[in-house]
This record gives sequence, C-alpha cells and structure tokens, in this order.
Amino acid sequence: MKSKYITPFLDGEAFNCVSCHVYTKQHWYYMQGSSRADGFGGQKQDPRFRISYCEHCQFPTIWHEKSIVFPLNLSAAPPNEDLPEEIKSDYEEARSIVNLSARGAAALLRLGIQKLCAHLGQPGKNINTDIKTLVTLGLPPKVQEALDSVRVIGNDAVHPGTIDLNDDSDTANQLFRLVNFIAQKMITEPLEIDAIYNSLPPDKLQGIKDRDGA
Ligand SMILES: [Zn+2]
Repeated sequence: MKSKYITPFLDGEAFNCVSCHVYTKQHWYYMQGSSRADGFGGQKQDPRFRISYCEHCQFPTIWHEKSIVFPLNLSAAPPNEDLPEEIKSDYEEARSIVNLSARGAAALLRLGIQKLCAHLGQPGKNINTDIKTLVTLGLPPKVQEALDSVRVIGNDAVHPGTIDLNDDSDTANQLFRLVNFIAQKMITEPLEIDAIYNSLPPDKLQGIKDRDGA
C-alpha cells in the first residue's frame, strides 16, 4: 500500500522532498549573504529566507516565509498511476503551478474530479449526485464531507475549472490528495483485488463459479 505523502511545510522536521519525493528528515538553515558586493561590511542574514536540505538527496529547497521559491514545481504528490491520461495531465499541470497560483491549481483539480466521476461511469454533469452514487459503490462517505469542505460539491460548490478567490494552498493540497484518494479507492484497489482473484489456481476459480452458479 502506498504511504502517506506529506507536503513540504515551513519548519517541518520531515516531509516528502520536493526534488526526490522521498519522505525524510529535513535540515533547516537561515539564508545568509556572505559579504557585501561592494566589499564593505560583513554578513547579512534575513530570517524571511530559509533553506531546508533533504537528508536523502541533499537538494536544497528555498523558502520565503511559508512559500517555496525554489524549486518552483512538484511539491504535491505525484498523480496516482492508474488515473486516465487526461486527468493525469490536469493533475500534473496543477502540480507545476501550485506554488505560483494555488487558485489556478485548485481550478484544474476540481475539473479533474469532475472528469474522474465521468471516468468512473457517472454522467459527469452534476458532481453532487455523481459522488452520492460513488459512495453507494464503495467510496468512503467521509470523502463526500471532504469534497464538501473544499467546495467541490455542496451548497458552496465552485464550478469546475473556474478561479475562486477563496482558494489557497491548503485547499489545493487537499484537492491533490482527494483526487489520488478517489483514484486509489475506485481504480487501484479494485484492480489489485482483480489481480489477486485472477492469480487463484484454476480449480479454485472453478469452485467459486460453481458455488455462485455461474
Ligand atoms: Zn530529496
């Protein structure tokens, strides 16, 4: 089973590295100018700028207060590999812009969730009813509450693909996780169960079919 992806956050002792994506310890430093360009004076430290070094790959992530300024991409988890290509590409685009525009990323991710409902056999017109149906098909009911809280469904739902001024990076990060969670529950896990079933010995499979009157 895939482990949880911890999005990088300021002063975090450990999280998934922006560069290598391994979950590991982070070492924090303040940025410091080593000398003045004009040759006068000494060092200058600015507490607004920090660097975290990944213990695994040693690559630096540079922060301005709570925001990552380098590298400017891919701080969210990679997309679930079983997602259809079109949704994967929305997800990847959201991932590449989330540190520049959390609102833009959230708009793409809501669109991705709508497409995911359609991919899972729902009409894809009304996400409220699509998600309700998916819950009857095995999606955990808590997902419905989570989608309500990030305004994918419910009274405050934001139209998929539109920029909403209330979105922030927390919302975008929750949306990344929800897309992957829905894919995990509704695509990956059924595939895994199929694989287990199909690896049963032929006589056992026949026994199951006989029992079920197939
Ligand atoms: Zn790393």
